[in-house]
Amino acid sequence: TDAPIHTPDRQPEDPDAALRPKSLREFVGQEAARENLRVFVEAASKRGEAMDHVLFFGPPGLGKTTLAQIVAKELGVGFRATSGPVIAKAGDLAALLTNLEPNDVLFIDEIHRLNPVVEEILYPAMEDRALDIIIGEGPSARSVRIDLPPFTLVGATTRQGLLTTPLRDRFGIPVRLNFYTVEELESVVTRGANLLGMAIEPGGAREIARRSRGTPRVAGRLMRRVRDFAQVAGDGTVTAAIADEALTRLEVDRLGLDAMDRRYLTMIAAIYKGGPVGVETLAAGLSEPRDTVEEVIEPYLIQLGLVARTARGRCLNDAAWNHLEMTPPPAGSG
Ligand code: ADP
Repeated sequence: TDAPIHTPDRQPEDPDAALRPKSLREFVGQEAARENLRVFVEAASKRGEAMDHVLFFGPPGLGKTTLAQIVAKELGVGFRATSGPVIAKAGDLAALLTNLEPNDVLFIDEIHRLNPVVEEILYPAMEDRALDIIIGEGPSARSVRIDLPPFTLVGATTRQGLLTTPLRDRFGIPVRLNFYTVEELESVVTRGANLLGMAIEPGGAREIARRSRGTPRVAGRLMRRVRDFAQVAGDGTVTAAIADEALTRLEVDRLGLDAMDRRYLTMIAAIYKGGPVGVETLAAGLSEPRDTVEEVIEPYLIQLGLVARTARGRCLNDAAWNHLEMTPPPAGSG
């Protein structure tokens, strides 16, 4: 089964893999993050030491996993990847850590979803390169300390604030990833098209870039769908007109919003007269987990200035009413 076009979650077969940039030089955008990482990578390489622990945070699909792989590659060390929910027991993490080669990168995606017991094992591992393991049970239980090789933990999360303070404090290098500009996404699309051997006109790349929700993963996905369309409806070349037609058919509108984004906006407009309305209420109305609403749907709508988060709840801005082609209720009528 295919994921909804705009769900930036990773798909099991990972069609993204082919498009992943392999070096900091190839990586488009995120200028500040890239420059900083370049310095830390170089310094660690010169000293022959493990780089300090890095935390990447930002909405899904912006390149956190890609950057983690690039960091390992540029450091010339091994890369191991896992994710918070997958590490069920303390022993699972202990096995991962004790199997690392010196200076390796261990990547933990969705690190905010670590089981608290596992998280506690991580503190001494990050700080003192040591594991405190309890052997035995009851009165005969004792704690044993195992030394670990030096390593770099790279964590990824959607928002820095989702981490507990002790975990957050143990990352020496916090790196925020932002939504990409249309120009940056245009480069991502052009580069991807070249890799896939796809014929694309600059106008076609721009149209896809404009409608990719500021997110390279979405750009990659839309690109593939538009290519299919171009091969069936045209001569295989992606022009601006073909991209527009294909994306409109896919229900991706001119701002790049998908059906879920529009349901979200329409619900606030039609049912709550533009808000304020609480996120729990919206999540229930959309039958989506609150996390998805806050971490996936809202960040881009807020970035576009369509929605505001206020102390009393979510409110639509004028731009949203315009986009929906609806009229806000007269002031004071709510
Ligand atoms: P995250 O871990 O933040 O969810 P990923 O690193 O998995 O995101 O990125 C998703 C896909 O988007 C990658 O496979 C890659 O194809 C593409 N991508 C991400 N960032 C870039 C970039 N800066 N330049 C080109 N492609 C990118």
